[in-house]
Amino acid sequence: MKILMVSSEAQPYAKTGGLADMVSALSIALAKLGHDVRIVMPRYYNIDRAGLDLLEGPVGVPMGGREEWCAIYSAVLPDSGKRPIPVYFIDHEQFFGREGIYGTPWEPDFLDNPRRFAFFCRSAFQLCRKIDWFPDILHSHDWPSAMVNVYLKFWERPMGKEGEFFKTASVLTVHNLGYQGIYGKDNYAYAGLGWDVFYNAGFEDWDMMNLLKAGLYSADKLNTVSPHYAEETKTQAHGFHLDGVLRYRSADYSGILNGIDTAVWNPAGDGYIPQKYTVSNAAKGKARAKEALQDSFGLPRDKDLPLIGMITRLTGQKGVGQLFGPGHGSAWSICQDMKIQFVLLGSGESWCENEVKSLASRLPNFRCHIGYREDLSHLIEAGSDFFLMPSLYEPCGLNQMYSQAYGALPIVRNTGGLTDTVENFDQETGEGTGFMFDELNPQAIYNTVGWAVWAWYNRRPQIEAMRLRGMKKDFSWERSAKKYAELYESCLR
Ligand code: ADP
Repeated sequence: MKILMVSSEAQPYAKTGGLADMVSALSIALAKLGHDVRIVMPRYYNIDRAGLDLLEGPVGVPMGGREEWCAIYSAVLPDSGKRPIPVYFIDHEQFFGREGIYGTPWEPDFLDNPRRFAFFCRSAFQLCRKIDWFPDILHSHDWPSAMVNVYLKFWERPMGKEGEFFKTASVLTVHNLGYQGIYGKDNYAYAGLGWDVFYNAGFEDWDMMNLLKAGLYSADKLNTVSPHYAEETKTQAHGFHLDGVLRYRSADYSGILNGIDTAVWNPAGDGYIPQKYTVSNAAKGKARAKEALQDSFGLPRDKDLPLIGMITRLTGQKGVGQLFGPGHGSAWSICQDMKIQFVLLGSGESWCENEVKSLASRLPNFRCHIGYREDLSHLIEAGSDFFLMPSLYEPCGLNQMYSQAYGALPIVRNTGGLTDTVENFDQETGEGTGFMFDELNPQAIYNTVGWAVWAWYNRRPQIEAMRLRGMKKDFSWERSAKKYAELYESCLR
């Protein structure tokens, strides 16, 4: 199959979260299955033109009332090996020649985002015309590329047999239902679609324009990134007011678990950790990583203290309110009452950044690094004994899979992809790969971390067995890519 990934992010070019990892890793895995996969994304300001090839001639993109002009650059996705994956970059100075993907710290959501991404979606079709390559599948991701589905259904495909996209089918993957791209209707005219489409495609949302919602109505197939999250999002509690749409489309809506990029996230080949390790020498490899981690965070070297790691965006979805909320969060009591060390890598909401810095200044066993650090994130996975992820909701979550692969036991809330990838510790039988709790509140986090710490001091053989069990699990993309290929085939049928 010919597959075009239309995405606002792809590793290593632009990343704000798991979406970027997924797009590149899935593309590589699909190419290995023999498919012709290509990626199109915006050329953000930070992507240096010097390393890219320019496609000859400018490209016109018809938008409402005007034609935009852009250049298209291309490159080959790094690590795509024997089956090189072309990445096309849409270059438009006014929309993408600025710092930030969706915004900046001082303007988190650019005012012109609906126009930036409507233009980007439309340009994907012009790219295909330019290179004379028409995909069987247009695979879009989250609200920034959701309008691809609308343009296909209401603009390109209605042209019938004359249109180049007559046989193209569309898939929309929801990576996080919490982000929908809701903007004022005054932005709609720029999309260049009629008002009939505004209502028929489902843009309408309480007198606003909802880009994801239109994508959910218009795509041929929908999926999200874990089976459990697919079920949860059909309920009012987790549906972010789109549960009705997802129930309406439930025949076409499924969950496919993300894999992890085992070329990057694998302790046997990880260049960021002091000693590579596998199941057979995990104890030694992890002990060295733990020392290095303690050193880099300025904690005393101590192999007997359980070390809890956390890598996260500091935002409400990740349970940071219950953990770090001033006055009620449980991190303070956890660090005061338990014989542990705790390290955190993250960035996000400023109240939370300030709070964790303040905790680090008052607690001898809690350290943080505010910022985004790829190298440190690998060292934390390798050097930690436990990995904390008390998410309010989690579409899939990558870190709990990374941590199992690196032999750190996840302590997670029983939700979404965490439910699908972690097995709760059974202290009677010793079964399990992590520790889980149901309700998200400070007491539940405290209790469950306490349970894990208890097991560390009282059930060490079971902890060691769980560690190896986690490391042996198969989280590779191969299995998930086969499921995506089946999904594509089902919409071509
Ligand atoms: P989400 O996409 O909701 O943020 P995921 O667990 O699916 O959560 O993916 C997060 C990805 O971003 C992981 O690869 C994680 O290691 C990485 N990450 C998050 N914050 C940081 C940070 N401060 N430094 C380095 N990597 C980070």
